[in-house]
Amino acid sequence: MTTAVYPGSFDPITLGHVDIITRASQMFDSVLMAVVKNPGKQANIPLDERLILVKDSIKHLSNVEVQAFEGLTVDLAKAHNAKVIIRGLRAVSDFEYEFAMSQMNKRLCPGVETIFMMAGLEYQFLSSSMTNEVARLGGDIQGLVPDNVLAYLSKQADAQ
Ligand code: ADP
Repeated sequence: MTTAVYPGSFDPITLGHVDIITRASQMFDSVLMAVVKNPGKQANIPLDERLILVKDSIKHLSNVEVQAFEGLTVDLAKAHNAKVIIRGLRAVSDFEYEFAMSQMNKRLCPGVETIFMMAGLEYQFLSSSMTNEVARLGGDIQGLVPDNVLAYLSKQADAQ
């Protein structure tokens, strides 16, 4: 049984993330999406609401589970006997940070491998932060996020 962990802030989950998790779910017996609190980033959406949005967006994928998580990804992987961490790579921008993090994770836990999956062509320049910004300013983000996220961010923008 091969289990993989897919960690991220998912603030919010975008169709780029959904594309990665859908492809990953076809490669592994099970995938655990870890919605990370991420103290290094100021969150737009509170963790418990991010968790609901992620769960709702991937509920059609029967071998994917979702949980909130705070701590080292390698510890989560070890706890679930997962040998793989999945990360998505967009054109150029993600490489340096992701490369450094994978080296650190390798050092912390040599038995866990990071596997990078290329972002889908249509999602190469899609980021959660830009999605939040455009939605906040009243721009159209249809086709970039799942419908539940679209509804959530529209409501958030209206409340401002
Ligand atoms: P983090 O805060 O840990 O970078 P994110 O939620 O921004 O978390 O992203 C989680 C993972 O998904 C990362 O590996 C990131 O590179 C990847 N990712 C982000 N946006 C996209 C996208 N549009 N397409 C594919 N992968 C993406």
